[in-house]
Amino acid sequence: MKRLNWGLIGGGEGSQIGPAHRLGAQADGNFTLAAGALDVDAARGKAYAERLGISSDRAYGDWKEMLAGEKGRVDRVDLVTVATPNSTHFDITKAFLEAGFNVLCEKPMTMTVEEGEEIVRVAEATGKICAVNYCYSAYPMVREMRHMVTSGTLGKTRLIVTNFSHGHHGNAAEADNPRVRWRYDPAMAGISGQFADCGIHAMHMASFIAGDEVETLSADFASTIASRSLEDDAMVNFRMANGTVGRLWTSSVAIGRQHGFDIQVFGEEGGLRWTSEQPNQVLYTPLGGRTQIIEKGEAGLSDEAARLSRVAIAHPEGFPLAVANIYVDLAAAIRGEAAGALPLAADGLRSMAVVHAAVASAGQNGAWVDARPPMFR
Ligand code: NAD
Repeated sequence: MKRLNWGLIGGGEGSQIGPAHRLGAQADGNFTLAAGALDVDAARGKAYAERLGISSDRAYGDWKEMLAGEKGRVDRVDLVTVATPNSTHFDITKAFLEAGFNVLCEKPMTMTVEEGEEIVRVAEATGKICAVNYCYSAYPMVREMRHMVTSGTLGKTRLIVTNFSHGHHGNAAEADNPRVRWRYDPAMAGISGQFADCGIHAMHMASFIAGDEVETLSADFASTIASRSLEDDAMVNFRMANGTVGRLWTSSVAIGRQHGFDIQVFGEEGGLRWTSEQPNQVLYTPLGGRTQIIEKGEAGLSDEAARLSRVAIAHPEGFPLAVANIYVDLAAAIRGEAAGALPLAADGLRSMAVVHAAVASAGQNGAWVDARPPMFR
């Protein structure tokens, strides 16, 4: 299959989400990083793009230059990812859609509802794909939950309870750190801080799993760090179209919670629970029955969960990234740079010696034997 050309805007060196897009887009060999305007600082962005292997004529200083440069090319990018701060999403996404590019935009897609409606209209009018990176919905076991709920395993859904609360912005002394500050600055983040940053993942997930939409809500927002003009904590009650009751708590000052995204769905005939820190498992409790663990990779999962599962049962989906780290160290070693703790032939040899020693010991009723390779004794 021909590789698709991919362009990235934002996601520069040191950014939070840039590495996830680069790894994600290129993991399955579907996309080649062909063009980029990676940084708010043009020179830094170009230099980084070239280090990532983008040719110098496609390492752009800003997104407008990229739009102009890519528009006329026969090998123009097939997809543009917008991974810049929120306030820039609308202009960039709209401009690329209008020029006939497909776009994956980071969340929140826009700053206002009007802008969001405009993007929907432009995508419809141009026939181009405009996707939004609600990436948690792509975990295989989230797809399994959606299948279970929408195919009626739980009966009618009564209640959804979800949290996306962490404590990483809980240090008041660090509130002015630029990486944190923009998230609570209305000019950069929009009208909402933590809810638009993390709460919308949870809100999207509730709709995604239930196959239903939020109709009404009641919210309590708080800025627990006084210098913040946007909320860093929110509790939102909601009601969905089919009557499901929803509760959502999101916070960035919940010190001690690392990445506290979880969701529970309770129906008339059972309940489900998933948490992002244990993404390979869904807990399922049928009415009157015992709690079961449904494991990614096991037999009998839905087609969607099976399709999106790359690695065998018992391995986390992060497993390929551990292999990627071996290649990181290998590349460094080949270039003569520090190569971390790359396992080398001596490690392979020690393993073989241990295997042989174990076999020998087992053959001698568990006798203690020397497990070192002769050359290391
Ligand atoms: P960040 O501050 O860590 O990085 C932003 C990057 O964009 C930097 O490299 C910066 O130089 C670059 N940049 C800023 N303005 C630019 C411009 N006009 N043109 C080109 N590059 C520009 O931010 P981040 O945490 O990576 O967040 C970026 C976006 O991704 C935000 O919208 C955020 O909400 C979203 N995000 C989504 C998820 C998710 O789970 N889907 C997770 C984290 C962040």
